[in-house]
Amino acid sequence: MIFKIEEPIKNIFHLNFDKKKDLCETFMRFQEHFESPEYRGKFFSIKEYKAWYRKTSPKGKKTGRFTYNQDWSGFNIPSYILEPFKEGKFNPLSKKEKIFLKEFGNIEGKFYIIGTYGSTNLDTLDHDIAHALFYTDPVYNKKMKKLVASIPAKDLKKIHDHLGSSGGYHEDVFEDETHAYITINMPYMEKKHGITSEELWSVHKKMQKVFQKHSKS
Ligand SMILES: [Zn+2]
Repeated sequence: MIFKIEEPIKNIFHLNFDKKKDLCETFMRFQEHFESPEYRGKFFSIKEYKAWYRKTSPKGKKTGRFTYNQDWSGFNIPSYILEPFKEGKFNPLSKKEKIFLKEFGNIEGKFYIIGTYGSTNLDTLDHDIAHALFYTDPVYNKKMKKLVASIPAKDLKKIHDHLGSSGGYHEDVFEDETHAYITINMPYMEKKHGITSEELWSVHKKMQKVFQKHSKS
């Protein structure tokens, strides 16, 4: 398993893997303990999660296969998620999970880990840097929460419906995800999901300004 680690912004670590499969297998349980609609805050085995994903994810339902490694390409977790793994709540750990914990398990304080693979898609990385800043930078967090609150209800409903139906997100992370998608992926939201309005584009522009400012300091 080959990967490299960078710290592009203080307390934000970017882990870049050669192979997508290694990336997904390393992050899966950490990510899903953080934001799965079913497993957030719970302890579970890899086998149990795979069975659930096959039965409930959009592609899994269609194909009967475990398509997680194709479906996801960027990962993001706050450092507190490592605690139950360190405490043995997820034992037995896979080899990849052990390597991951060894890398980050001894770092003190609040930090954030982003995972990508190959030559990094800049939008994927920025989406995850947005999550990281939302967690590590209190001023950024406050500004973005205010902007999310300014999104018209009809647009917000569409965004939440989208987050709910893509199968990957627990309600608790909707605010954070809304901020990341509208800041970074607004063209994609419009083109792919028809989520667009004049007001939403104006919120996007304001969010972009906040993001540019805080991701450069
Ligand atoms: Zn996200």
